[in-house]
Amino acid sequence: MLVVMRMDAGEKEIRGAVRKIESHGLKAHPIPGAQRTAIGITGNIGVVEPALFETLPGVLEVIQVSNPYKLVSREFRPENTVVDVGGVKIGGRDLVVIAGPCSVESYDQTLRIAKAVKAAGAHLLRGGAYKPRTSPYSFQGLGTEGLEILVRVRDEVGLPVVTEALDIDVLDQVAAASDMVQIGARNMQNYTLLKRAGRCGKPVLLKRGMSATVTELLLAAEYILDQGNSQVVLCERGVRTFADHTRNTLDVASIPAVQRISHLPIIADPSHAAGRRNKVMPLSRSAVAVGADGLMVEVHDAPEEALSDGNQALSPAAFEELMAEIRALAPVVDRAVPSYVGS
Ligand code: PEP
Ligand code: MN
Repeated sequence: MLVVMRMDAGEKEIRGAVRKIESHGLKAHPIPGAQRTAIGITGNIGVVEPALFETLPGVLEVIQVSNPYKLVSREFRPENTVVDVGGVKIGGRDLVVIAGPCSVESYDQTLRIAKAVKAAGAHLLRGGAYKPRTSPYSFQGLGTEGLEILVRVRDEVGLPVVTEALDIDVLDQVAAASDMVQIGARNMQNYTLLKRAGRCGKPVLLKRGMSATVTELLLAAEYILDQGNSQVVLCERGVRTFADHTRNTLDVASIPAVQRISHLPIIADPSHAAGRRNKVMPLSRSAVAVGADGLMVEVHDAPEEALSDGNQALSPAAFEELMAEIRALAPVVDRAVPSYVGS
């Protein structure tokens, strides 16, 4: 349910409506808009009569929302959400590029790659300290040491950092060390982790599960928003299909599909979709062409020695080319690729 306040409703009326909603055991989520404030209601709405709120001072109308997702939907918030990651804004006109190695392998490796991607124009640095690996015998990430490396490299290079929280045990640690917490594809429906991410105080990058529908992705994001964290960026990273010419199939249509329903930004990860470096560029172009708010790309300066995902890593030179192409393509879709703007 959505309580739409009148344009001339003030703080007092909004607070009054929030109190009334809460007095029925429901959660109120005020959503300030350019024109007016709306208050999203979640909880067991079924038992509540909309007329209870319609007559409150300052209330224009009460809208019943039939979608399963509420806080993430455009019905609740018509304007695009812009997510601020250490000063870098995702979801506005600018295309944001997140780049870096799949895994943090050492201080020197992370520093070299961070400097290279920054020089090429990346806005955020990625790198996993905790890695979700298919085999328990594969490199699992450097853990705490990896996070310490990311903090040092961020301070030295000046790029805000995105890194994955694999479970609730490490979530607070990851949130403290990073500028954005990544929830990986395998964890998209780990509801305990999603709820904790909603309380972690940092923006969240939520990757689509490889077998998840758009509805399931949006409902996963709903868990995070319901805990009070609206700073969520979605990521299309490819889904499982019968295709064997790529690792996954980048579902480019999901990007405009999500944007139609939701105000949350959505970026694409062509690296995990392609699984092979020769398809990262064409998939990046396609994602930008359909309106993605940004890209996340894996880069390694010695891909054959990478401890994870070497086959899909771009060399720094190839990443530079990708940035040049994206800069050329951006104006066609009314976007821009800003020069580095972080703090
Ligand atoms: C990653 O980004 O490093 C990663 C493991 O991606 P995904 O969760 O999409 O597989
Ligand atoms: Mn990877």
